[in-house]
Amino acid sequence: MSQENTAPTNGKANALADAAEVAACLRAHRQFVMCAHEKPDGDVLGSGYALGLALKSIGKSVTYFLDDEVPRNLRFMPEWQSTQRSFEGVADDAIFVFFDMSDQARAGKALQWVPRERIVNIDHHLGNKRFGRWNYVNEGEAATGSLVLGLVFSLGVKVTPDIATCLLGTLISDTGCFQYSNASPHTMRLGAALIEAGADKDLITEQLYYTRTFAGQKVLGRALENAQLTDDGICYSIVTQAMLEEYGATHEDLEDVVGALRVVDRCEVAALFKESADGAYRLSLRSRGRFNVMEMARALGGGGHFRAAGATVAGPRESAIERVLAAIRSTMDEKSRTH
Ligand code: 5GP
Ligand code: MN
Repeated sequence: MSQENTAPTNGKANALADAAEVAACLRAHRQFVMCAHEKPDGDVLGSGYALGLALKSIGKSVTYFLDDEVPRNLRFMPEWQSTQRSFEGVADDAIFVFFDMSDQARAGKALQWVPRERIVNIDHHLGNKRFGRWNYVNEGEAATGSLVLGLVFSLGVKVTPDIATCLLGTLISDTGCFQYSNASPHTMRLGAALIEAGADKDLITEQLYYTRTFAGQKVLGRALENAQLTDDGICYSIVTQAMLEEYGATHEDLEDVVGALRVVDRCEVAALFKESADGAYRLSLRSRGRFNVMEMARALGGGGHFRAAGATVAGPRESAIERVLAAIRSTMDEKSRTH
């Protein structure tokens, strides 16, 4: 794959300097721990495995840490079986690489102890807090994996078919298979280059888009059956623990639900409430493009992107719905007033 046609900076001036500092850090240290956010997705895990493979190929020691099981639909990623749930073998001088998160809190309880001096932060979210000692952030990229590709180049490592599969997985995951508005010509070019480098596109799309559990499809049906559409264009639904138990489904099975709410023609903002075992709700927000759901999520203590964001809101159900609808409407009203 040639470096010229896949320059990863996507027009952001200081990103090159940040990338160079991160690459220097990767070269200088000997051991790395790849860290994911809670509810890991294809972008965060693919980024970690790809950089891990690159670092291993130049003799570095790499640990993939995840305080959770690897989601079933991501078990096609090369390296996933090396993921570990403990810090076994991690030395005191190891560097922790946090991928795809705007602040350290997103990494969950198990990674809050890691001090700033030992953190590399590689991300593409709006409002990244630059919580690492080394930070490489570019909000213009569709996936964190695009930034990782740049680092792989900087390290002088060849993009093997395994690295390419991990990185194409990040792009496909964060662009909805190149359908979302974040899939720019630049993103498409990176995708094409990764396929040329041997990425297994068909394996990725089969796993991410054409494989669902029967239980999950049943819950999708129930969530659509129960969905509400307000006059001002909010389409929302709730998946309770009781529903999940009835079908034997888990939160992992709910990936398509909020997207199925968003496609409704009169919908501007889709909201899915997913009840957790502790009674709180994981909230997923999606925009049809007019309103910034990241602002709404932020008002609720979460974050994300313009068209896709999330937060955790406390129960009980009625008050959770009330607070979320109020946050959505506050951003909608603000925009209506100013435009
Ligand atoms: P999802 O709805 O798929 O869980 O998340 C959509 C997007 O919102 C993801 O890109 C994710 O980074 C972001 N997001 C989801 N939940 C949270 C949250 O609790 N806090 C923050 N900061 N971002 C979130
Ligand atoms: Mn991402």
